[in-house]
Formats: sequence, C-alpha cells, structure tokens
Amino acid sequence: MVIVMEAGSSPGQIAYLKGKLQNAGFKAHVSHGASRIIIGVIGEDTRRKLEDMAIKAIPGVEKIVSILKPYILASREFMPEDTIIQVGSVAIGGTEIQVIAGPCAIESEGQALETALAVKRAGATLFRGGAFKPRTSPYSFQGLGEKALKIMAKVREVTGLQIVTEVMDSDTLPLVAEYADVLQIGTRNMQNYQLLKKLGECRKPVLLKRGASASVEEWLLAAEYILAGGNYQVILCERGIRTFANNTRYTLDLSVVPLIKSLTHLPIMVDPSHSTGKWELVAPMSNAAIAAGADGIIVEVHPNPEEALSDGAQSLTIGRFTSMMHDLRAVARAVGR
Ligand code: PEP
Ligand code: MN
Repeated sequence: MVIVMEAGSSPGQIAYLKGKLQNAGFKAHVSHGASRIIIGVIGEDTRRKLEDMAIKAIPGVEKIVSILKPYILASREFMPEDTIIQVGSVAIGGTEIQVIAGPCAIESEGQALETALAVKRAGATLFRGGAFKPRTSPYSFQGLGEKALKIMAKVREVTGLQIVTEVMDSDTLPLVAEYADVLQIGTRNMQNYQLLKKLGECRKPVLLKRGASASVEEWLLAAEYILAGGNYQVILCERGIRTFANNTRYTLDLSVVPLIKSLTHLPIMVDPSHSTGKWELVAPMSNAAIAAGADGIIVEVHPNPEEALSDGAQSLTIGRFTSMMHDLRAVARAVGR
C-alpha cells in the first residue's frame, strides 16, 4: 500500500505517521517526489490494518492507494517521477545518456589505464572492470581480485572516472564496496536473495543485471529486495536472455526498455557486449538501445581484444569504441537525449 500525502504536508506530520506505521510493525519508505511525498507501507495484511488504524483521518494524509503489482517500491505507482542516480558528477536516469566502458576484466595496471584514458577521451563517463569474475568454466581466468580493485582505485585517481565492478558474494561485499562507486550484480546472481538483502543495507548504487532467464517481474522483484532494505539506488541492466536462438551469445530483449520505463521509475541501461557476444553487433545494438529509450549502455573495450583474458570476441578496440561514440551521440540527439 502507498500513502499519498497532501501537497502541503509538514515534516512533523510525516514523522508522526512514519512512527505510527513503524509502531504497528510496518516498514515505511518515504519518497520525496517533485510535487508530493509518498510513503510506501510494507508488511502483512496492510490494507485491513491501515483501515483499522484510520490512517486516512491523520492530518496530512490525502489518500491510500493499493498497488496490485507484487513489487511496490520499484513500481511507477509508488514513484511517478524517474529516479535519477548520482554517481559522483554523473547522473544516471536523467536527460543525458551515460556510457560505462572498460575491459571485461582488469588484467594489469597498464591495460586498465590505457583503456580508461582512451574511453574517457571518447566520451565514456564511467569505467567498468572485473576484479572477481563469474566465469562459466572453473578453468578460465577468475580475475585479479583485490589487486584489480586497487588498480581501479588508481584509474579513478588518474582519470576521475568512477568505478563500476561486480560483487559476487556476501563475503567479498565489504571489500568490493570499499573500492567500487557502483556495485554490479551479474546475471548469475540476480536471484541471490541473501546477497540482494546485503545490498539493501549498502548505501551505494547497484547495477542490477537481468538474470539470463528472468522474467521482468522476477527482475523487478530482485530490485525490490534492494529497495526494501532501504537502498534506493538501483539501476537495471538488460544484458540478454537465454532463448532457442544460437546466432548470438544471448538474445538482447530490447523491448523491455520501454516496458521497464512504464512499469518502474528506476533507470535502465543495456549491455550490448554480453548479450550479443560479437563485437560487430555492439555498435548497432548500442544505437538501438539508446533509440529505444535506455539511459545508457555498458560496453566492453580492450586495447587488444585478441589477447584479452576474457570476452575478447565481444570487446571493441579503442578505435571502434571511439567511432561508435560518434554515432551514438547522433542517435541520442535524435531522441532528445
Ligand atoms: C560482466 O559485465 O562482466 C558480466 C560478467 O556480465 P553478466 O553478468 O551480464 O554476464
Ligand atoms: Mn565480460
């Protein structure tokens, strides 16, 4: 259930109501919209209990709205305005699109710095790099771990680009959170509910990738886990789903972009690298993602893809990334971004 406050409701009225809801055993999530303050009420049997408490009679309350979707805090009904997530000076979900770029995995300081300086020059606004890699085979390169995190901290210091990196489990979360500006949850962990709960306790933005076989509802419920814990900074990321088609690594489900925009206030980005698995398809799919209304893309770039320790086949060279950025700007302009 959602309580919509009157336009002129006071901080005192909101604090009073919040206290009353908490005393009754509910969790109350206050959202400050442009024109209204809305309180999301989470708990069991909320409709009946709120009626019994005569919430509507409390000064400042305009109305109580019941949300029929299973996700509440992630829903558009809860928050009609778009959520904008601030990562340093970069705003994700606003008018401007954002580009996260960097190698699949951090391999060395030289590789990371060379890539970061080049993608920044080409217009990327955030740097990505894997430290703890979720590889399909246990024999594949697993990432440099903390050493990679230290390299990324250096990259941030030198370039000013904020860092996006994946966290794979609760054990390494404190370490990764020490270095990362955005915590990435990979496709394999979208339904790791214990980890999602822990992310709810963090106060850092989370890039939540869609599970490779997750429905939109399952994905938004995964986001709800993080929001329900009190961390309201969730960025969704479509990265391809598993279908019968084997012409690409996964099938990029671009229709979810406008769909997600109608269902939720959270920003959505697209990963054209992992979804296609082929560098040749990355630029066209990036353009398509922005044309469809995505708030940005996350792209793999490597100075020498043939020698990459992971995902070389889908990595753009610096030159290809630079020319893609040129075209992407034109698409962004065409759709008013
Ligand atoms: C990644 O972005 O490094 C990655 C492993 O992606 P995904 O979880 O989408 O496979
Ligand atoms: Mn990768």
